[in-house]
Amino acid sequence: AVASPGLEVSDARQVLQRVFGYDSFRGSQQEIVDHVIGGGDALVLMPTGGGKSLCYQIPSLVRPGVGVVVSPLIALMQDQVDALNELGVRAGFLNSTQNYEQRRQTEAAFASGELDLLYLAPERLRLDSTLDLLGRGEVSVFAIDEAHCVAQWGHDFRPDYLALSVLHERWPEVPRIALTATATQATRREIATRLELTGARHFVSDFDRPNIQYRIAPKNDPRKQLLQLLRTEHAGDAGIVYRLSRAEVERTAEFLVANGIDALPYHAGLDKEVRAAHQSRFLREDGLVMVATIAFGMGIDKPDVRFVAHLDLPKSVEGYYQETGRAGRDGQPSTAWMAYGLQDVVQQRKLIELSEGDDAHRRTLSRHLDAMLALCETVECRRTQLLAYFGQDSAMACQNCDTCLAPPESWDGTVAAQKLLSTVVRLDRERNQKFGAGQIIDILRGKKTPKVEQFRHDSLSVFGVGADLSDNEWRGVIRQLLAQRLLSVEGDYGTLVLTESSGEVLRREDPRQVLLRTEPKRA
Ligand code: ADP
Ligand code: ZN
Repeated sequence: AVASPGLEVSDARQVLQRVFGYDSFRGSQQEIVDHVIGGGDALVLMPTGGGKSLCYQIPSLVRPGVGVVVSPLIALMQDQVDALNELGVRAGFLNSTQNYEQRRQTEAAFASGELDLLYLAPERLRLDSTLDLLGRGEVSVFAIDEAHCVAQWGHDFRPDYLALSVLHERWPEVPRIALTATATQATRREIATRLELTGARHFVSDFDRPNIQYRIAPKNDPRKQLLQLLRTEHAGDAGIVYRLSRAEVERTAEFLVANGIDALPYHAGLDKEVRAAHQSRFLREDGLVMVATIAFGMGIDKPDVRFVAHLDLPKSVEGYYQETGRAGRDGQPSTAWMAYGLQDVVQQRKLIELSEGDDAHRRTLSRHLDAMLALCETVECRRTQLLAYFGQDSAMACQNCDTCLAPPESWDGTVAAQKLLSTVVRLDRERNQKFGAGQIIDILRGKKTPKVEQFRHDSLSVFGVGADLSDNEWRGVIRQLLAQRLLSVEGDYGTLVLTESSGEVLRREDPRQVLLRTEPKRA
């Protein structure tokens, strides 16, 4: 920022309004901004979409010198910088995607005080040249984004983050603000220790959205289920329906329109003008339903969104929280409803298998999915589990989620799991033939379908041993075993295979107990 002597804390609001065009601060933004402008260190825990960026951008603009932002999200830097430039903020970045000339220009701008904000990839700070560069200019504030990356036992550990303590050693007088959306108590302590932020004030946002009712229903005919929800509980309300694929977005929007509901599609495959038109209609008009991929929603601030419906499983709890969080910004009762089924698990596992990137990346995706599945399959309060994921303890069940309102029953599914897993073992011996859930259920229930007879599966010892459960109940067993990682899927046809843990259930002596959620009766 320009080192004009007249700037004080009271200028934060002016910057908010004049530069960013917002009327007022949200949540604890004001407190955080004031604290950092005053030279204090801060550790900020705020949900995604909560508005963390302003917490360091405004102090960077108000304090003399350049705000230095360390972020591992290299792919986003260009967009962030472009957006800031459009607002008239002088921002630049340094990361490995640039060529020598681009870096040199940014460095020159920094050294001559022509920047307000400089974004840095963490590995840059291992280079003496970067530290020398920072020494040549004036730094107003250090912001460490995604600060949980410093936690060694965490999901997203980045060794480069350990080197960030050097900032404090070399520039003890520059305030530092560390920000994250995910941190357990333990992670928070580790962030404070490793970044030498022990004197920092902690700003922990309440992640709870008490006016949102969380519900996750078994999926059988998702579009019909959605229509039922809209007709019975949300007639005439504005809402967002999330789907995984563009094709499903189109189909679902058409289905709603055909059934008399004002709905519009939104996905990245539509023309820019169409997208913009649909978005502005959604913001302006009452009672529109937007059917969208997750491309829709960033920066959407419509207060009276009454429901968010997921017809496909989100990839992570973070995503689910962020998307459902678009409901009920006005504080009025709102619904977060999701339909979830066996096919979702199969599909998401397949997407991870096919995803680009290395094994470590795939493991991270798997962990994110596992947390999402645990939320879907829980027999306890959804809100308690959701908040616990973000490191927030809540003492009581909420009475405003489906598991609180209609507690699901659970049953000892050990024997069922053994029957199912032994069938998988038997079929696995037929090396060149692969079978999915459908065939396995037919075998368990003793159905002589053409495909069962063709492969002579009626002669297997497990044929008919599962007649006590319905098709739907068996699908529930398979889904939950997949969620608990006692079963896995492989290949294009969703072949069921054992996992490292399956043996624990199958062993004769002292088998692992499998607790399953009772499937609700289908309507
Ligand atoms: P985070 O980094 O916590 O995920 P962002 O900083 O990206 O969140 O902010 C999320 C969205 O909220 C952005 O679209 C941002 O412009 C908007 N926003 C943040 N603070 C405010 C505010 N005080 N008033 C209105 N909108 C805000
Ligand atoms: Zn609850």
